[in-house]
Formats: sequence, C-alpha cells, structure tokens
Amino acid sequence: VTVAASYRGRFAPSPTGPLHFGSLVAALASFLDARRHGGIWLVRLEDLDTDRNQPGAEDAILRCLEGFGLHWDEPLVRQSERQELYDAALQQLRQAGLAYPCGCSRKSLAQAEEGMGGPRYPGTCRNGLPAGAIVRSFRFKSSEMEITFKDRYQGEFRQNVGLEVGDFVIKRADGPFAYQLAVVVDDAAQGITDVVRGADLLDSTPRQILLQQALNLPTPRYLHVPVATNAQGEKLSKQTRAPAVQPNPQTLKEALQYLGYTLPQDLGNDLNQIMNYALQAAE
Ligand code: GLU
Repeated sequence: VTVAASYRGRFAPSPTGPLHFGSLVAALASFLDARRHGGIWLVRLEDLDTDRNQPGAEDAILRCLEGFGLHWDEPLVRQSERQELYDAALQQLRQAGLAYPCGCSRKSLAQAEEGMGGPRYPGTCRNGLPAGAIVRSFRFKSSEMEITFKDRYQGEFRQNVGLEVGDFVIKRADGPFAYQLAVVVDDAAQGITDVVRGADLLDSTPRQILLQQALNLPTPRYLHVPVATNAQGEKLSKQTRAPAVQPNPQTLKEALQYLGYTLPQDLGNDLNQIMNYALQAAE
C-alpha cells in the first residue's frame, strides 16, 4: 500500500439534493481531518448519474459548504467532465482481462437471484455473452481473494468481494460510468491520501481496493464516520426526506457533537469561532 507523504482529503457529494445533516457531518469530518493534518481539502462533484442530479443542487451544496466555513483549496472537479479518464481505465481493465461486457438485464438478474438467494451476480456473462445477447453494461471480474483493510475509525474490515458481491458493474452500456470506478480513478488522479466519508460506504471500500489493485493505483487511508439517522433509525438521505441544512451556529455545534466533540458552555454563537474551536480541540 503506497500513501503519499502529505495529506490530501476530499468531500465528494452527489448533486442529487441539498446538504442534509448526514452529508454535513461527512463534509465536516473530512474537512477537520484534513486541516488538523495540515492537509489540502478538495470538493469533487459526483454528478455522473444524470437521472438523479437535481437542478440547483450543486449550487446549494457549494453555498452551504462556504456558509459553514468549509473552504476548498483547489478548483472544483466535476465527474461529468472526466469521461476520458474513466474510459481509459475501462480499456486498461479490458486489456488485462479484468472487465467484460454483460448482456444481463435487471429483470433477468432479479429472476436469477431469486434462485440463488442473494444479490451476488451469478456470473452469466463472465466467459462470453450468450448468443444473441446485446451489451448492456461492463462488469469487473472480482477476485475471490479476501480484502482486508484497517479503517481509522471502524477498525479492521474484511470482505470477499468475489463471493459476497460478485462481478460488479463499472459502466452501463447506454451511459454513465459507475460510482465504484469513477471514485477510484478520481481519488488516484487527485492524489487523495485520506478518504473520510459516511459508513454507508464502508462495504463499497473492498470493491474500490480491488479496482485500485487492478489499475495499479495506490490505496488511500480510510475513515468511515457513523451515519446519522432520523428518529426512525433510517439513514438521512433524499429518500428518507432528510431536511436541508442551512449554515448556522446551532447546526454546526450539533454536527460537531455528533462527531464526538465536547463543546464548552461559553463557546458562543459565532460560526468562525465555533469552527476555530473545533480546529484546535481534541475530539
Ligand atoms: N458521491 C458519494 C455520495 O454522495 C460519496 C462518494 C465518496 O465519498 O466516496 O454518497
């Protein structure tokens, strides 16, 4: 595992809606970790899933980050402008025999999976498209070697991607590259040393490590913060109608407390002052 000497972190929101408390917590965690390491902090817009992008969301997210004092250090990067990089990665994987075209439709997979009792891809097209099938997507050939990594917060995490997930989609034939491929290409291209994000992505990490190994890219360090939930115990998201957050001192305090900071009673209600406190405080 190669890690660059200096710290580079990032927040990578998808512009599918405004920031909610959960995404604010993830942004704040990665920002504070970067600053406390004297590092660089970047914002990357993961806008590949054009069906889910929402007009105005990118603007709302960026204004909200700035309002909280979460200022990024280098120009914004948008995944929608980086297709050639993902294309090159797909070609590299295909040449290495590690990616293949797949003709399975979601419907045919749903039927196959019923029979297998799990969400694992049954490998139908792994050794060639069935006669008459059309290419619908490209899949990565997952290995059945267990991936182990040490998360900075969650500790050791293991997954056998080949057995538990199977060969996963890295590009849909009709359109976008998948999150798993794009995130790996970009984290490497941007020299990211430390990924700090929500624990909902913990079980995507072994897939990303497999792709890094297949593409000869370094593996960053990972820290997955607990995911904020609502009163029903559901993850805050657009699907669970999590309300948008607005920059204000009270919300910043709540997000810091969620991350385990103990705030003094007399901290006051000035955003900059609260942020400065967090930057020098011990968690
Ligand atoms: N774009 C992803 C999301 O909004 C996060 C990707 C990441 O941090 O790796 O959930």
